[in-house]
Amino acid sequence: MKLDVNVLRYLSKDDFRVLTAVEMGMRNHEIVPAELIDRIASLRHGGTYKVLRNLLKHKLLHHDSSKYDGFRLTYLGYDFLAIKTMVNRGVFSSVGRQIGVGKESDIFEVANEDGTIMAMKLHRLGRTSFRAVKSKRDYLRHRSSFSWLYLSRLAALKEFAFMKALQEHGFPVPDAVDCNRHCVIMSLIQGYPFVQVKQLQNPDTVFEKIIGIVVRLAEHGLIHCDFNEFNIMIDDDENITIIDFPQMVSVSHRNAEMYFDRDVECIIKFFSKRFNLSFEADADDSDSDAESDSVKPRFSSIKKASGFLDKELSASGFSRKEQEDIEKFIEKIPDNDDDDGDDDNESEVEDDKDLDSSKLNASDIQNFDSVLIKDDDNEQLETSGTSVIVD
Ligand code: ADP
Ligand code: MG
Repeated sequence: MKLDVNVLRYLSKDDFRVLTAVEMGMRNHEIVPAELIDRIASLRHGGTYKVLRNLLKHKLLHHDSSKYDGFRLTYLGYDFLAIKTMVNRGVFSSVGRQIGVGKESDIFEVANEDGTIMAMKLHRLGRTSFRAVKSKRDYLRHRSSFSWLYLSRLAALKEFAFMKALQEHGFPVPDAVDCNRHCVIMSLIQGYPFVQVKQLQNPDTVFEKIIGIVVRLAEHGLIHCDFNEFNIMIDDDENITIIDFPQMVSVSHRNAEMYFDRDVECIIKFFSKRFNLSFEADADDSDSDAESDSVKPRFSSIKKASGFLDKELSASGFSRKEQEDIEKFIEKIPDNDDDDGDDDNESEVEDDKDLDSSKLNASDIQNFDSVLIKDDDNEQLETSGTSVIVD
């Protein structure tokens, strides 16, 4: 199901107000009853029901009468709320073509008034496959779409916070521009995903650069956990940029060593297969351990810093509590994992198809200026506290 961002053009102030009311209702309702939406939105001239029908028609909402009659946001509805907020903040003014489809995200080009093109990543947790910690699996399955929206928001927040912190420490990552709901805006990386590269001028140098990053991350207290040819971008000068951070963990994580080794192995495997780099110790080399050590860093011999996560991340708006929340619920399947779904830990999201039944699809750059009304009323609605039950 495709839907053009052009629809934004036809959405009124009241439409957005009602859409925001549904979002607020979802903080404590799986399905938000129409009367509650009506009360939260408090449209000056009434007409909530008509607006709901319009939002439904554009697939921004899903009508659910399985338990009781009500509405919930689709991912598309959530996309529009995030996009509108960012446009109102002046972060960008148009959305262009889709440049990436990850397992758990859609990536689009966006442009600001100056014509600067950036990347917009919309997180879509629960769309295809991710591993939920087994004990939480039922929780996720029975808890509604809100969980997916919540986790997608946390994933975006985490990604933004890590990108910012890493950038400040001189790691080659995109510039973190802004974040709202499940949406992260970052600089557009020139270059290609490493997986598409068939030849390198200096494979040894590139290998060392990449392994060097894994080591330096660990020295800063971090492990990427999905470090592979899909999450490394490379340009014509063989400069490297690392992307995709929602699954990063601290070196104090209980499985830290395993994650670290897996990241290293992925790189070694890719280089030996694709560029025929040999990592085997010479047969006549009596000290073969030393040989493989020089290629393959050991987790135990890295001097790791502590405190990085706490200090830097809370400064970027991602709290320790949120970090724990997201770690509790998800363990991402690596991008290069060919697992086709028979894993027992894989969460089933079939019943949440509706969440993704409508995707943002922008074929050409479209201008939002005329579309998105600066709407102070909605801002008020958004900041009016966490309790949304209106008595
Ligand atoms: P996922 O978490 O779904 O794997 P990624 O962050 O890895 O998402 O992005 C998926 C793809 O989108 C990448 O492989 C890359 O091709 C493209 N992409 C992501 N971020 C950028 C960026 N900042 N600049 C250019 N392309 C990007
Ligand atoms: Mg990725």
